[in-house]
Amino acid sequence: MAQVVIRDLNKKFDEVHAVKNVNLHIKDKEFMVFVGPSGCGKTTTLRMVAGLESITSGEVLINDTVVNELPPMDRDIAMVFQNYALYPHMSVYDNMAFGLKMRKFERAEIAKRVQEAADILDIGQLLKRKPRQLSGGQRQRVALGRAIVRHPQVFLFDEPLSNLDAKLRVQMRVELKKLHNRLGTTAIYVTHDQVEAMTLGDRVVVMKDGVVQQVGAPLELYNQPANRFVAGFIGSPAMNFATVSLAEHDGAVWVEGPDFRIRPPQSSAGRLRGHAGRQVVLGIRPEDLRVANGSDPADLGFDAVVEVTEQLGSEILLDVKAGPASMVASVEPTVPAKVGDRLRLALNPDRLHFFDTQTEA
Ligand code: ADP
Ligand code: MG
Repeated sequence: MAQVVIRDLNKKFDEVHAVKNVNLHIKDKEFMVFVGPSGCGKTTTLRMVAGLESITSGEVLINDTVVNELPPMDRDIAMVFQNYALYPHMSVYDNMAFGLKMRKFERAEIAKRVQEAADILDIGQLLKRKPRQLSGGQRQRVALGRAIVRHPQVFLFDEPLSNLDAKLRVQMRVELKKLHNRLGTTAIYVTHDQVEAMTLGDRVVVMKDGVVQQVGAPLELYNQPANRFVAGFIGSPAMNFATVSLAEHDGAVWVEGPDFRIRPPQSSAGRLRGHAGRQVVLGIRPEDLRVANGSDPADLGFDAVVEVTEQLGSEILLDVKAGPASMVASVEPTVPAKVGDRLRLALNPDRLHFFDTQTEA
């Protein structure tokens, strides 16, 4: 059982305010992912939880105990890094056993735990090898094994898959998920990769410039992004944005683009009412656009010219120009669109997003 609570956490490196007032409650058994661009403060936050970085102000609690002053060794956590940090001169077995030896575990208990972790990770046949005799994926498993044998209350991961090639990264992602399902250990996982965040996280924390932008389940972030940054960061290909004007005609709110005019969904109409003349940013996900069936005049949408087509097999990405705006549409792979085609893109009004023009992307 372990929950981690972060209260008003701040980190300043001289003039760099790397982590700003972070508040978070990570529940027992939860897999919490921190995601955000490079330099946004993910590693620093994780290192403060681990005890590897001093805390400028605020508190970290593990199971209701403030651990600010507790050395890493005494926090009952295990950390897995991007670079694996294996000891090159030690065998796989010794690498995995090292932390337990340091903590004066008995030989038999060490052997039992290493074997158990090796079975879970399917590396039993590698125990005598040195790290240099292993592939990248195998090294990463050893690094995981070294954390697992500790039976920690919390796993901390800092971009553990970043050094693996794309295919292996996807495989290891699934392995990590299985591992978490099996062990149920509370985990905090840091990555810059939104796909990793979405697939691994029970909940995801999106950070930017040291500030938490939104905390939520993956689908919450996808469906109800709190701001334009989250909207643009979560989802691939990225959400399309266009600056539009608000207008009111006959008591109804309208959104007017360069050459289209749409009624926003009920859910946002209330919020947009009373702001006629103001500009807002309209967001549309590529997958919420489709090529309109010309026979249906009720289709809400706009005209566009195809500039590039990218056939991915499961979908085609159409890079289009709609008036002055560039957009990407993800459409059925069988749509016969060619460069230069003029077509009508239809959209589902319930899937539109609106953001302030003030908040930068
Ligand atoms: P992330 O892991 O999200 O890429 P970091 O937590 O590593 O980001 O860094 C956050 C900010 O703090 C960055 O601006 C980085 O340059 C700065 N930073 C990190 N570690 C140090 C340090 N030891 N000394 C000075 N600045 C640091
Ligand atoms: Mg980092």
